[in-house]
Amino acid sequence: MRTDLFIGNAWRPAASGKRYGVINPATEECLAEVAEGDAADIDAAVQSARTCFDSPDWQGLSPRKRGGLLFRLADLLEQRAKDFAELETRNNGKPLFESRIDVAMAVQTYRYYAGWADKLTGDTLPVDGPFFAYTLREPVGVVGAIVPWNFPLNLASWKIAPALAAGCTVVLKPAHETPLTALLLGDLAVEAGLPPGALNVVPGMGAAAGAALVRHPQVDKIAFTGSTEVGQWIMREAAGTVKRVTLELGGKSPNIIFADADLAAAVRGAQTGIFYGKGEVCAAGSRLLVEKAVHDQVVEQLAERAKKLAPGDPFDKNTRLGALVSQRQQQKVLSYIAAGKKEGAALVAGGNPAQVNGKGYFVEATVFDGARAGMKIVDEEIFGPVLAVLSFEDEAEGIRLANRTMYGLAAGVWTKDVQKAHRVARAIKAGTVWVNSYNFYDAAAPFGGYKFSGFGRDLGKEALESYTEVKTVWVAL
Ligand code: NAD
Repeated sequence: MRTDLFIGNAWRPAASGKRYGVINPATEECLAEVAEGDAADIDAAVQSARTCFDSPDWQGLSPRKRGGLLFRLADLLEQRAKDFAELETRNNGKPLFESRIDVAMAVQTYRYYAGWADKLTGDTLPVDGPFFAYTLREPVGVVGAIVPWNFPLNLASWKIAPALAAGCTVVLKPAHETPLTALLLGDLAVEAGLPPGALNVVPGMGAAAGAALVRHPQVDKIAFTGSTEVGQWIMREAAGTVKRVTLELGGKSPNIIFADADLAAAVRGAQTGIFYGKGEVCAAGSRLLVEKAVHDQVVEQLAERAKKLAPGDPFDKNTRLGALVSQRQQQKVLSYIAAGKKEGAALVAGGNPAQVNGKGYFVEATVFDGARAGMKIVDEEIFGPVLAVLSFEDEAEGIRLANRTMYGLAAGVWTKDVQKAHRVARAIKAGTVWVNSYNFYDAAAPFGGYKFSGFGRDLGKEALESYTEVKTVWVAL
């Protein structure tokens, strides 16, 4: 297992010599002692990315050949899928079947952007006067990618793939809790033939390595996924060097069940909407809004299903609820459960910490009924397996409750009425709306937020554009 910093296609300890322990949250074992990067290491990585970016080799590499490198990286990742999935599960605590899905999505993302590399074009412009005017799309430069711990490999690919496809070079700062798959990716980058400096990986603390990347004058763009609070800080700090910034932040997404929905499908969707990924999913359907006429029925079925969803060994093929990423996160989630009880919501399933084989930072699948706007469990992002159920009278009230949040990342709508489905999808202020489904992602489908969920999009051709500058060229005829 790689535990040093990956800079310029080589492995090195941190300049300070510091290392820190990375924990398996399901077993509480220390998995590895990883080099802890700080400002000095970030500077070395940025210099490496800059030198690569400015080099004739990188500048002279045709977009098609650049795409070829990404195709190769995707193939290598696919060949090593088992190793990556197992490592992700050990480091994050998520069930192995989820890690397999993560790796498959990362492979898809590298392939999708590999295909875009030679299809990025400018326009010819119908300007007045004797001119031929056109635009060029040029890479923005060195990209600092900062990602959280919930989908470590996958979210890194959402930044690295479009950045490299656009011709940028990258310094990746993984979350300090989960750096292992990002480091393993370094091996594949070398094997795929990426030139030294095209991709660098520097694990470390947010306040040290992350902040240094945000402040570094040689970094042209920060692509960030994480909490709204850190996103706000990054936006302020990036002003000093006028960096381009894209922010994928938190969420408190409404999943709306109308009385005319296929209720069996809607209950399944509500369950996976909140409990997939242990609820540590930015787009988790953490507010379930149920039309009054079917409220009791839905809550009863959902509570029954949640009670059966026992936390288990993430390597057991039957496990559908893994360990939370850390003890800190477990404590945070439990404090929200305590707040829900205190504020008078009715606990109908779960609510307790759990252990598997006497170890681990697990929390039961938890459902609160009778939740109301103004309660902490309704207004704040919990980032754990905790669902708040609210009820509404009619479509107008459903929409009003759905939009009553500072966030706007995603939403679900369950109804058999096709007109209502489209009407509600339009009325909801969120970057993604799933109709009669929840939690689907594809490299071709842009993903990102409205309001405090951030701005800019990952995935799709929209993401690619944010890694480019537009240059307008005027030629007098
Ligand atoms: P976090 O904001 O604490 O950390 C995210 C990353 O930022 C980590 O790599 C961290 O080390 C780094 N960081 C922390 N402080 C920093 C600083 N001052 N300067 C630079 N970097 C810094 O978030 P987290 O707890 O790791 O992740 C959970 C959050 O991420 C949730 O709010 C969740 O909603 C959000 N998230 C959003 C999306 C999305 O696509 N919108 C996806 C996944 C997670």
